[in-house]
Parts: sequence; C-alpha cells; structure tokens
Amino acid sequence: MSNCKHCAAFGKESKTTKIYRSLSESNELIHLCDSCYSYILEREKLISRANRYANETCGRLPNGETEDEREEWVGKWNFSFLQKMQELSKENGLIK
Ligand SMILES: [Zn+2]
Repeated sequence: MSNCKHCAAFGKESKTTKIYRSLSESNELIHLCDSCYSYILEREKLISRANRYANETCGRLPNGETEDEREEWVGKWNFSFLQKMQELSKENGLIK
C-alpha cells in the first residue's frame, strides 16, 4: 500500500484509504488518506466555483487579439481566479 501523496508533500506518512481521480492534476489517480481526501474534494469544489467566477469576470479569451492583450487577459483571469480561491478557502475553513 502506498502512502498518502498529499501528506508526503508535507513530510508526513499516512495510510491511504482512498483513490481519487484528481481534476486539478490532469485526471491522475492519486492515493489519499481520509482527511486529505475530504480536504481535496472540498478544494476541487472551490476550484470549479473560482473557475466560473473568473470566466464570468473576464469573459472569454478575445479572438484575434495581440500577444499583449492576450497576456493581459490571462493575467486578469489568473488574478480573479486566485482571489476567489483565497476568499472561498477562507469562507470554507480550508485556510485561516
Ligand atoms: Zn493524507
């Protein structure tokens, strides 16, 4: 049995009980312990909400724009996404 991948990233070892297909890691199957499993499920729900928020805020990537304008759009999208993730994570008690 493999160790929890998420715990391992923090130098901890935990028995895995769940296998999860991660949306944010290219649908890779990852082995997780119970507590990381619930944390990640919760987080991925937030990711889809933050995604929707950034899409609504920035609209679609404009077609036929210059490189500069595309970069500006990407920057704005990333900013909106990360800002919303931060806000939702706090609201849902994932971070303090
Ligand atoms: Zn874990």
